[in-house]
Amino acid sequence: MSSNTLKEFNTIIKDSSSVDVLFGFCYPSTYRAGMTGLALHIFYTLLNAREDTSCERYFRFDTLSPTLSVESKRPLRNNHVIGFSLTYEEDIIHLIQMLDSGNVPVRAEDRSGEDSIVIVGGPVVTANPEPFVDFVDAFVVGEGDLVIHEIVDCAKSGNSRKEVLTELAELRGVYVPAIPKSKVERNIIHNLDSLDYPVAQIIPNVVEGSRLEPVFGKSFLLEVTRGCGHSCRFCLIGHVCQPRRTRSLNKLKDLVRIGTENTPVEKVSMVGSSLGDLDALEDLVCWTVSQNLGVSVPSLRADSVTESLLKCLVQGGQRTLTIAPETGSPELRRSVGKGLEDSDIECAVETAAQAGYNSLKLYFITGLPGETDDDIKASVDMIVKLSKTSGMRVTASVNPFIPKAQTRWEREAQPPLDELRRKLKIVEKGVKGRSKVTIESLDPRNARIQAALSVGDRSLGPVIQTAAKYGGYGGWRRAEKETGISFLSVANDAERLQNELPWEFLRK
Ligand code: SF4
Repeated sequence: MSSNTLKEFNTIIKDSSSVDVLFGFCYPSTYRAGMTGLALHIFYTLLNAREDTSCERYFRFDTLSPTLSVESKRPLRNNHVIGFSLTYEEDIIHLIQMLDSGNVPVRAEDRSGEDSIVIVGGPVVTANPEPFVDFVDAFVVGEGDLVIHEIVDCAKSGNSRKEVLTELAELRGVYVPAIPKSKVERNIIHNLDSLDYPVAQIIPNVVEGSRLEPVFGKSFLLEVTRGCGHSCRFCLIGHVCQPRRTRSLNKLKDLVRIGTENTPVEKVSMVGSSLGDLDALEDLVCWTVSQNLGVSVPSLRADSVTESLLKCLVQGGQRTLTIAPETGSPELRRSVGKGLEDSDIECAVETAAQAGYNSLKLYFITGLPGETDDDIKASVDMIVKLSKTSGMRVTASVNPFIPKAQTRWEREAQPPLDELRRKLKIVEKGVKGRSKVTIESLDPRNARIQAALSVGDRSLGPVIQTAAKYGGYGGWRRAEKETGISFLSVANDAERLQNELPWEFLRK
């Protein structure tokens, strides 16, 4: 389906000639993924609430064109500011492709005069923007809803591109590579209740199962918490989105009431990490169900699951329990910092089966620092045991370890490709013939790309730009050859593991 036929509720179309600032909000991947993220709804609402600004959306895939807005077909390059939300490192390729096909100079140094200001935000660049500096005028480091109005004010008041960038560089939480600072402080909101929240969210008018349907279905996204109170050694969110903050129960109920009056949905999807830590979660879920609304929650920590919570979730239509043991080995799980025992996981799954759940999604990581083959076999044993004892259908997502900037494992190497493949095979072989078990995995080659972009530095610019011309894994190999820059081995480069890290200036 293209945006020719795409119908949506709650879109906002303004007369471009009656506003001062045209803002293009871009998601460098599919419409479905972009519409599932809360960032799009937050910025769309905040920006369009301003009388002086018109914000329209662009997606790399699935709409009429990546360079014509969904709302009014406004050409990408007509925007004064183009803002990207970068959720996954490898989407930098799509970001470059969108700029290129929209006739916006790809390299920041080639932009001048009337060219749009290109801004990128999200956890990836909050942790390490350096590999992307060639393509971006300004990065938002930390929580963008705290600084978005100041960014628009700069775009409106600056008399020249240089003046706008100079003003942007002075803002807390904004990093302008052309105007380096010795220190960039991250913006963090302390009181979530005080933030404006999107209560009239855009919903595509598509049938269930359509590829344009958001991942959680047509639902009102309710941000319950931000950040995480844990800090598992590998986890980006657990490190760059600290501390965990929570909306009050009264505020959350108000948002559900007002949100479902203004958004044509019958379901609430709760958003936040480690939601089970929240004392009021059961109250919130059961109250939401009592309002005749469906409800879904993301992955829960196994030690936070209670029978009454799960029963309410079943009443609200949730039938899949999602847990992330990370590994079947209790010792390795301790080393990861997960703080979960086997008994917590077994107990949560048993409780879910009794409450009426019929499927289980488990997340594991292979190639963790210090992992042995016995640890992998322990993961297989856990998958098999949980499938047998619960009788539920089990999907185990087994993904390679990816070292991420600013985590406690930022200096750890990623095992070689062959090793990652071999480890994955142990898992696949271990569950072979079990009809109720499915294994899903990120291709280790993609994990390689993601790792290089996570911990790389600004020398990667040319290889990224060249890879964007070709696409796919083969494109990265070809780009390595053409530029002479080793890219795919960045994450296990021995020197990298010793040197000063490129993102040190972000955590001073
Ligand atoms: S893995 Fe989950 S619990 Fe651990 S830090 Fe990340 S979000 Fe928090």
